[in-house]
Amino acid sequence: MKIGVLALQGAFVEHEKILERIGVEAVEVRLPEHLDGLDGLIIPGGESTTIGKVARQWRLLEPLLAFARSGRPLWGTCAGMIFIAQDVVDGKPDQPLLALMDVTVRRNAFGRQVDSFEADLDVPVLGKEPFHAVFIRAPFIERIGKGVEVLAKLEDGAIVAVRQDNLLATAFHPELTEDDRFHRYFLSLSGTS
Ligand code: GLN
Repeated sequence: MKIGVLALQGAFVEHEKILERIGVEAVEVRLPEHLDGLDGLIIPGGESTTIGKVARQWRLLEPLLAFARSGRPLWGTCAGMIFIAQDVVDGKPDQPLLALMDVTVRRNAFGRQVDSFEADLDVPVLGKEPFHAVFIRAPFIERIGKGVEVLAKLEDGAIVAVRQDNLLATAFHPELTEDDRFHRYFLSLSGTS
């Protein structure tokens, strides 16, 4: 199995390390042709405005849409989640979005004081053990459309992980912990759409 990691900006190396640890070949994606032959793609955390602009500049927007529409799994973490969302509240006006997932995401949703925090999440699809989640200037999901499954919420009810067919989105950074259950869950999504 070969999984691509969009390597324009942000925390892509950390995803590659986890993938390699669980026996999956990780491929850095910078050009449209790097998407050929991949079984899935991860769009990492970082800065969604930068990722979007560089992707547009390098003519990756259409190829990324085509990749997602082919039914192969695509996972956005944090900035990646913003980039694949239908709508963004508090986004930059000229911020390119792939608008693949029927969700509205609030960018930098947790405000300055709690810019970054960690929380133990109950994620039923991963089993009983809570998932230790790292949030860094994270967004959360304000609206979900039909067909979007909520995978995890914070205690106050904020939605922070969702799935829609082959698409997965997490507001936090599973690549920054040792727990590889989210990566394994992502790999299990092939063929779901
Ligand atoms: N705040 C960033 C953005 O708006 C996301 C932060 C992250 O990916 N850790 O893109």
